Amino acid sequence: MSGPPRHIQLTPNFNLSEFLHGQDPLPAPWILDNLYRLANRLQVLRDLLGKPIIINSGYRSPEHNRAIGGAAHSYHLSGMAADIVVPGMTAIQVQQFLKNWSGGLGSYQHFTHVDIRPNRARWS
Ligand SMILES: [Zn+2]
Repeated sequence: MSGPPRHIQLTPNFNLSEFLHGQDPLPAPWILDNLYRLANRLQVLRDLLGKPIIINSGYRSPEHNRAIGGAAHSYHLSGMAADIVVPGMTAIQVQQFLKNWSGGLGSYQHFTHVDIRPNRARWS
């Protein structure tokens, strides 16, 4: 056993595998800790919404982040960020719902970036 399994249920509605890109090796324990904190924040949101949250992109390895042209210091690299969509809601509706989110909130046309940085940040 070389590490935790890929399919750990982090919260009632979020499984570790949802945050991992298929080809990536399992991230380091400190990144798994961040993903657990992120999943718990998303679970609160999911409970408030009463709708599933689809994670388009969660943890990114440095290689994967480079391959997709992600920002060099992206919070995705530390397992602190997710790009999400909510079926039945537009990205703008999701962003409006998240307007009091305490970390980072990136508003894009077809998805919403959320991260658990300690300060509030907004961009679009
Ligand atoms: Zn993102």
